[in-house]
This record gives sequence, structure tokens and C-alpha cells, in this order.
Amino acid sequence: MPKPSSRISGITPSGKDGWEVHFAAMNRKEAGEDIIMLSVGDHDFDTPAETVEACVTAVRAGYHHYTQLPGIPRLRAAMAKLSTQCTGVPTTADEVIATPGGQLALFAAAQAALDPGDHAIVVAPYYATYPPTFRAAGAEFTIVETRAEDGFQPRAEDIAAALQPRTKAILINTPNNPTGAVYSRKSLEGIAEICRKHDLWLFSDEVYWTLGGGEHVSPRSLPGMAERTLVINSMSKSHGMTGWRIGWLTAPKELVSLLISLNLVTTYGLTDFVSRAAVEAMENAYGVKEIAERYTARRAVFLDAVRGLNNVTVRGSEGGMYVMLDISAIEPDCESFAWAFLNAEKVAVMPGVSFGDAAAGHIRISLCQPEEILLEAAARLKRFATTYS
Ligand code: PLP
Repeated sequence: MPKPSSRISGITPSGKDGWEVHFAAMNRKEAGEDIIMLSVGDHDFDTPAETVEACVTAVRAGYHHYTQLPGIPRLRAAMAKLSTQCTGVPTTADEVIATPGGQLALFAAAQAALDPGDHAIVVAPYYATYPPTFRAAGAEFTIVETRAEDGFQPRAEDIAAALQPRTKAILINTPNNPTGAVYSRKSLEGIAEICRKHDLWLFSDEVYWTLGGGEHVSPRSLPGMAERTLVINSMSKSHGMTGWRIGWLTAPKELVSLLISLNLVTTYGLTDFVSRAAVEAMENAYGVKEIAERYTARRAVFLDAVRGLNNVTVRGSEGGMYVMLDISAIEPDCESFAWAFLNAEKVAVMPGVSFGDAAAGHIRISLCQPEEILLEAAARLKRFATTYS
């Protein structure tokens, strides 16, 4: 075969080998072992029945055709309404563009804001696709670690220290995957100030905004930020629709106009009947409250069960679908911990180091299991923590 482009060869997955624990656990579960999977970030329940019905109705009604490149008008209007709620900034339909999932919204943001050779700052711990998304845009990036002792809140001075002459963007994620940290207004104000001072874009991944533990603050609402903030959003987490691939980017309308051409050469518009179902789901908020309440209850139950554990400290864990536990007092190498925990107790968790050095010594627990399974996992963790040597 002729040589592939260096651009595509460069899009390698990031993170350290922690994913091996997850893949090994999946294989063992497939082979019949009774393993509790707390390593994945996908709901354990189906999409709300009303959304499924809306989709079936749309298929039967003949919605089988090409759609408008930025999304059908009713979908963009519904997305704009949700962006208004999520960011606190009145948003119009021409300030949103529909994408198949939040990941494509992030990809679009990187393509729209960065030239090859530009530099971006990624605040860590981070979602695994961030570095390869920048590589796909030909951009350089620097990882800026937050600190466990700060509950993984970003410090403006650490970010400022990473600025380079070609820095054009900062990427943050709140509520955060993997830490569950919900960035405070104060943390965000510090970042906003850097963006204004150095004329930077702020990529703000808010796909978990409905699953927050407290107030969700979007940096788009801060002074002077609406013109430079690109908000990544999605129905995957909020509406229980991971496999439907519906997301959107909220951006200044001039940038959205440019991005319509990107949809021309990539998605060519979203799936017709999925778009119709998504409108129904957004307008009626199908499942949103129930899903948020479910994760809040699970987080409370699990944290309650592990809080008294010797040598285990809860960090972040305020929102989203994950909790972060500092297990370094038991085993400083979190990968070794994850392997030993899987082998001894048949529970799969992600080593924190897979998401950046700041989370070394931690494990990420996914709340995508029913409460009774989370309680069983907590009991196994307790047994493991007291016997591990
Ligand atoms: N951003 C974060 C932080 C995520 O955790 C995920 C998925 O897990 C995504 C974006 C992408 O979500 P989707 O493409 O399903 O909308």
C-alpha cells in the first residue's frame, strides 16, 4: 500500500497503558467471568422510551432524506434553547451547528480555530480524545496538570505559565471526565482573564452539564467570553442517547457559517429521522431529570460507602458520571492497583494515570451501574484495601 498521510498516522490514541486493564476485563467478562465493570462511561440503561417512539414514528413517516447541513431548523432552535440554559447566555439558532456527537463538535472546534503549527493548552486530567483531536488539526499542545489537593480545580497561574507565542486556544471540561470536578466560578474567571488578555479561544466541553453536583457555570457567561468560547455539547449523557450520535457546537455565528462548509465535506448533515427524534427529546426533556437524579443518587450512595475507608480519599467527584479515589496510600502505582483489584476482586476500574499525571495514584470509578452493584463494588474495595500488601 502507498504511504498513509502523516496526519492520519499521527492521530494515535493518547494516555498511558491503563486502557489495557479495561480491555482485559472486557475479554474476561465476555469469557464468562463475573466482573463488575466500573471502567466504562456509557449508561447501563436504554434511551427513554418516548425518544425511541419518536424515532420509530419519524422512520415510519418517511424522514429518510438528506437534511440541512447545519441541522434541520427545529433541531437548531432546540439546541439554541438548551445552550441558553446550559451557558446562561441567550443563544440563537445561527450560533449552533449540529454534529454527530460531542466528539465531532470538538473536532469541528479544533478545525475552525487552529492552523497547523498553532498551539493549544489542554487542562488535565482530560478526556482521552483531546490530544489526538489537536493532532488531527496539525496543532501542537501542552498538557497543564491540575492538582489533586485542589480537588482538580485549574489554577490560572499554571495555565499562564504554559502560554507560547502561537497559543490560540485553551481546552477545559466541566463537569470533568475523569475527575468529576465541577469547575468553580473563580477557577473559570481566572481562565477567562487569560483568554481575554491573550486573545484566545476557549474550548469548553460541557457534555456533562446536566449531571453536575451543584451550580453549572459556563465560561461563556463571563464578561467578554461569548465571542471567544466554543461550547461542546451533546445529547449522549443528558438525554441517554450515546449511540444516537447527536451533539452540537455553540460558537459565534461567523464561525458557525464557516463550519457549515466543514459539515459539507464531513457529515453532509445528520440522519433525518434521528434529528426528528432529537427535537422531540429536547423539546420535552425526555429522561433528563430522571437521568440526572439517578447519577446524583448513585454518586451519593457510592461515596457514602467508601468515605469511611482507611487509606482511600475522595477527590473531585462532584458531578458527571465518575468519581475519583486517591488510593496512593495503599499502592502508589495506580496501574498496579487496578490490575490487582481486577484479579483479586473482579472489579474493573481505570487507573487515573491514563488521563494525565495529575491523576496518578488515583482510580476512576464509573457510576454506570445500578446502586446495588456499586455497593457491592464498594464492599469489595473495602476488603481489598484492608488485605492488600
Ligand atoms: N467529552 C467528554 C468529556 C466525554 O466524556 C465524552 C464521551 O464520553 C465526549 C466528549 C464525547 O461524547 P459524544 O461524542 O458521545 O457526545
